[in-house]
Amino acid sequence: MKKNFRKLERRKKIALIAHDNKKRDLIEWAIHNKIELAKHSLVATGTTGKLVEEALDQPVVKLLSGPLGGDQQIGAMIATGDIDVVFFFFDPMEAQPHDSDVKALLRLAVAWNLPMACDRTTADFLMTSRFMQEEYEYELPNYTHYLSRQI
Ligand code: PGA
Repeated sequence: MKKNFRKLERRKKIALIAHDNKKRDLIEWAIHNKIELAKHSLVATGTTGKLVEEALDQPVVKLLSGPLGGDQQIGAMIATGDIDVVFFFFDPMEAQPHDSDVKALLRLAVAWNLPMACDRTTADFLMTSRFMQEEYEYELPNYTHYLSRQI
């Protein structure tokens, strides 16, 4: 079966999303990683993006606010290969009005084998990975079988 690979450039397209109770965590983390984050391009859900932009003084592509469609926009960008790495600080202690969108985003990141950190410790590990500084090629999941199924 033919294998498909995807190459991530040195400059990564990073998605940032934080639920309200996790925004402080993400902003602190982002400030701590300001120099590293400046080497990459940033996209975020609306409110998170506004806060990160102010905190880092670095341009952030701001999508819709998460509950208004921003999570789904990120999910779509994951599926089309327009995002390389995801930092998604979701709140495990509070139900969200857009729980279905949150679940969809998480699912798509796994479906496309994307590096994703959902808490600060994992974010530290991911951000300090040497692959954040280098090109990185990985095998895409092969969905040929699924796409060619008999209906
Ligand atoms: P927000 O969205 O950055 O617009 O607050 C985050 C989310 O709840 O998904």
